[in-house]
Amino acid sequence: MLEFLYPKKYLMSVYELTPALIKSLGMDTVIFDIDNTLVPYWIKEPDDKLKAYFTSLRNSGITVSVLSNSREERSMVFCRSMDIPYVYRAGKPLTCGLERLIKKLGADRSRCIIAGDQIFTDVWCGNMGGIYSVLIKQVSPKDEWITKPKRGIEKIIVNMYLKKEMRKSAGK
Ligand SMILES: [Mg+2]
Repeated sequence: MLEFLYPKKYLMSVYELTPALIKSLGMDTVIFDIDNTLVPYWIKEPDDKLKAYFTSLRNSGITVSVLSNSREERSMVFCRSMDIPYVYRAGKPLTCGLERLIKKLGADRSRCIIAGDQIFTDVWCGNMGGIYSVLIKQVSPKDEWITKPKRGIEKIIVNMYLKKEMRKSAGK
């Protein structure tokens, strides 16, 4: 019933989204959310670990990009050191920003992954746009005020999704 809100995959961290995994899925582009997916909302720029991760993706021929609902300055400051293409004020879960980004990248949507920490923005947007959605466990328990109220219901949906996955792997 709520399948449209289910991610295709749920990972504990972006670092589990390795070049090998991305390639095994037949994908070549990753569309990242920033806040609480890559860094907590108060961290302005990627640290060395994150930069090394982006470099490892790029060295494997994977395009790294950002789709954020935040203001322009947030995306611009975060993306500039590694020259990551981005779309800000994306309006997720609506797909208008996603479509802008896909166009900008010249990407093939069937080879794109969207990776984010929120069901009601990132996963829903990806699912509506026909993009392989990966839910990433939030990096910090601290959320911005606008996100907080959604976390309770999100937890319920994630639990339903995990139960369904368990039934699937048990062959039921
Ligand atoms: Mg987020």
